[in-house]
Parts: sequence; C-alpha cells; structure tokens
Amino acid sequence: MRAAPRPNGYRDAWCGQLTAERAGTQARVAGWVHRRRDHGGLIFIDLRDRSGIVQLVFHPETAPGASETAHRLRSEDVLTATGSVTRRAPENVNPNLITGEIELSVDELEILANADTPPFPLDDDISVGENLRLRHRALDLRRHPMQDALARRHRVISTMREVLNARDFLEVETPYLTRSTPEGARDYLVPARIQPGSCYALPQSPQLFKQLLMIGGLERYYQIARCFRDEDARADRLPEFTQLDIEMAFVHEDDVIDCMEAVIGGVFERERFDVSRPPWPRMTFDEAVFRYGIDRPDTRFGLELKDLGEAVAQTEFKVFADVLRDGGVVRGINAGPRELPRSELDALTELARQHGAKGLVWAFAQAGAQEWPVSEWRSPIAKFLRWQEIAAINERLDAKPGDLLLIVADEVTTTGQALGALRLELAHRFHLIPVGRHEILWVVEFPMFLWDPDEQRWDSLHHPFTAPVGELADDPGKLKSHAYDLVLDGAEIGGGSIRINRLDVQQRVLELLGIGPEEAQARFGFLLDALRYGAPPHGGIAMGIDRIVALLAGRENIREVIAFPKATSGADPLTGAPAPVDPAQLRELGLRAI
Ligand code: ASP
Repeated sequence: MRAAPRPNGYRDAWCGQLTAERAGTQARVAGWVHRRRDHGGLIFIDLRDRSGIVQLVFHPETAPGASETAHRLRSEDVLTATGSVTRRAPENVNPNLITGEIELSVDELEILANADTPPFPLDDDISVGENLRLRHRALDLRRHPMQDALARRHRVISTMREVLNARDFLEVETPYLTRSTPEGARDYLVPARIQPGSCYALPQSPQLFKQLLMIGGLERYYQIARCFRDEDARADRLPEFTQLDIEMAFVHEDDVIDCMEAVIGGVFERERFDVSRPPWPRMTFDEAVFRYGIDRPDTRFGLELKDLGEAVAQTEFKVFADVLRDGGVVRGINAGPRELPRSELDALTELARQHGAKGLVWAFAQAGAQEWPVSEWRSPIAKFLRWQEIAAINERLDAKPGDLLLIVADEVTTTGQALGALRLELAHRFHLIPVGRHEILWVVEFPMFLWDPDEQRWDSLHHPFTAPVGELADDPGKLKSHAYDLVLDGAEIGGGSIRINRLDVQQRVLELLGIGPEEAQARFGFLLDALRYGAPPHGGIAMGIDRIVALLAGRENIREVIAFPKATSGADPLTGAPAPVDPAQLRELGLRAI
C-alpha cells in the first residue's frame, strides 16, 4: 500500500505502516484480530489488514472500557481502534515486523463483527487440504501468501496494460456468449431460452473476434480475456483461464515478437525476475523436437537427444534394424554417471511406454580393454551388438565409464516424446535444474499441419487461421507456418501467429483440414464474409496470465494465483457449481436431463 488511506470513521492509517516515525501521534486503525495474548492485566492484539500487522496494547488502568471489551476478542474478529503510537521498550522490539518498534496503546475500541473459530489456522504455511481452502476461500484469501499473489497478479496485468497503452493499443471486449471457436477443445455450452434446442458457446479464445477487429480497422487490440475450454483439468489447466490476448494489423512475425518482448520483458523487469533481457533466442520447431523431443524445450539443463542411426546403420540387432528399415529412428540420451537399481530402470521403461514407445534400452558404459572409445556395456542388449556399434553409440553420446545411456528405437515422433519425457523425469529426479535459473526462448517455424492417423486427416498445429510460409504447396506435411510460441523453463507461456488475410488461402486451408465449404460457412461464415472486404495482413498472440504469475510467484499450482479457481476436478468447492437446476428452468430452456 503506497499511500495512507483517506481518513474515515474506521481508519486513518494502515496497520502495516505505523512505524517509529509516527511515535507520539494518535492513529486509528481497522482490521482483523490476527492473534491475542493476555499478559497478566495487559492484553496484546496483533491487528491485521492488507498492508500488514500492528500490535495493539490495552492497559486496564488507563483504558478500562477498551480493556474490558478486548477480553472478549477472538481470532478473526473485526474491529476499529484509536490510540497513541508508542515506542516499545527496547527488549520488546520485534525486528521481524516493520511496525515492530511501536505499538498502538488503545483508548477506544469498537468491535465491528465477531468471527467463529476458523476451520483452519490462517498461517502463511498451511497444511490443510486444498478443497477446504477453496470452500472457505474468503478466509484463505486473508493469508499473506494469497494477498501477495493477487497483488502480484494485479501488478503484472497493470504493467502489461501500461506497455500496450503506450504503444497505442486499444483494450476492446469481445462476447462471452458466442459460437464455437476453433482452438480444438470441447466447448462449454449455454442453452438458449430464446431458441430451445440451440446453445451459445463460451469462447475458447477471442480468436475470430480479434481478427474481425483488425479487419474493422482497429489496428492494435488487446484484452485481458477469459477463455473457456472443457478439458480434463490438470495442475496447469483449468476450465476457465485468463490470457493477455493481442492482435495487430500490418505486421510481420518479428513485429509481434518485438512487441511481446517489450510487454513480457517489461513485466519481468518490474518483478525483478532473473531471466535474460530481450531479444530472446529463437529455436525452430524442428531443432527443439530434435534436441529435446518436445516443442517447448526446457533448456536449463543438458541431456540432449542424440541420433544414433548412423552408429547402428549396419546392425544385425533386429529391434534396431527393423525400426530403421521402416523409416523410424534410434535415438538416445546420456543420463550421466548414475547407478540405478533394476526397479528404477523398469520404472523409466514404463514411463517410455506411457509415452508410446514400445520399450527402452538401458546400458551402463563400462571401461573395457580399450580406454577410448569406451566399448563395453552392462545392458540386456549388449550381447546383440558388435563392439564397434557399442563404441560408436558411446562416442555419439559421449559416454564415460559409469554413464547410464537410455535409447529408444521407434517412429520419430514417439521416440522424441518418450526420450523428452525421460529427460524431464531425470532432471526432476536428480535435481539437474540449477535453483533460481530461468531460460526463455521463442520456438518458431512450426509445421502448418500434423497428420492425425486415427482420424486419417490433417490437423492444424496452431489453428486454422494461421498463415502458411510461402504458397500452399502440394505436400501439406512439409508446409511451415508463421506461428510462434514463447517458452519459459519448459512451459509454453504464450503462442500466436500471423493470420491468413486472403479468402482464397483461407478456403484452401479449411479444405485441406477437411472442413467443406458448407461447414466452413456455418462455423466461421462471419469471418469468411469479412475476409471478402479487404483484410489487412495481421497477426497476434495470447499469453497465459495464470501461468506467468505463478512462475513469477514461484508457485507450482496456478490455483495459488487465482482468486476463485475451480478444483482439479473442474468443480467449484466454494459455490458448489456445477449444480442441478430447478426443473422449471430446464423446461424453460426446452431441456430434459437423460
Ligand atoms: N487464439 C490463440 C490461443 O488462444 C492465440 C493466438 O493465436 O493469438 O491460443
């Protein structure tokens, strides 16, 4: 709290700002009883408001009335008190409190509301279950870490607004009751009373609206936008989340990236977040996937993936030979000098399987007859490989005696996913990420389409409005797009693209995605219509505010930086939503539960 409050009937000072400078003056404060202590006749109250804590003292001789009332005070009672700011005796100074040199010697006390015993102690470190905290969120929010997180969230959003306002952006709101939007998740639907059987959809993002704003000549738009996606919630994903949504007209990829570096770089600087200053490095999608097995690489530690295809090109080991013959790859990582028991190697194998790999080869490099290259292994497959092959793999992985090598042979995507997951698991298990180290980078040159083998069709990697690089060539699998993601410590904190601004290109892309003209018209007709009337080149991005604030606040869980989040189940322990509704309401909507 930067300024003193405007004096009113409840307070003329913030609790946390009464310092020794105020000694000898009168002050009025208001807040909650944080703690009460009785010392013989004296009563001490730690009074708390958003700014902090101040100690109140009640002397029975000089203020008998107030003292008498103070006897009845309990934790979390609400009060206002007036008194004189007095220096504490040196032995009573509390160096841990900003207000620790003084106390307020109370003359007048008024209890404004009484509190029942809270269902959990409102300490900074809390050990009670999250559901209980969410159910009593008003109490949970009183705790310092929550106040701190929400203040930080406010600051982050303010900085974003300041930087964008200075660059002539306009903040524009877009509808919540709308039609399905194309981010690829399930929609939340709102049944429409005016048209029984029809529904509004809650937006998965303001994507189409922000493009219309560009076609509408608004040039630069932003919004702190709520997005709704009906997916299974996880620690980092909730049914509704907030993003900084941006769109700019007459821009190339570099312009959007440059603007975001100013916004996010500005946030990091203000929050004193220890990460490199922009411009931030860029890595192509292909390189990220090749070196880290994932399109959001955590570059804070090594353990990079290496291709072993050449080392085993002539192998007679059937598993490797078959995979290579079928167009797959053999890749591996050097996990460093680790001795793992069989059970843990089995667990790693299981993890590789969970990511689609058929199996995992593990090997411990061993000093053999020759010093270098190390040409022996302790591994279940050692006997199937020639020593030259083992030596070649060891060389490629830079293996020293004692190093644990993990190898996957599979189709290229699966191999990357499995090794990428193993890499993160090893980093976690062996604490390979230096404490306090942060790495940020852009991932660029994404493929335009990915083949969905189950549905037997192409999917957009970003969304169907992303512009291709160059012309739409014959092989959709080779096309790149003008999409970009910002990745911090292995988490995607934002992503966007340059959009298609020509109707013919948009129609061709929708066609490639298997969305016929009629379906396209029905779903995005309003965008296609607008594209007929002169759309400027445009592009934008969306940054995940919940995740950014959580990273800045050093919280694992994004619910710690949201005032009223849903639980992991997607339900809201506070309000009880979702909840059954009155049959009359359903009738009005033309709905019946099945
Ligand atoms: N609409 C995209 C999203 O929500 C972001 C963008 O392309 O600007 O992920």
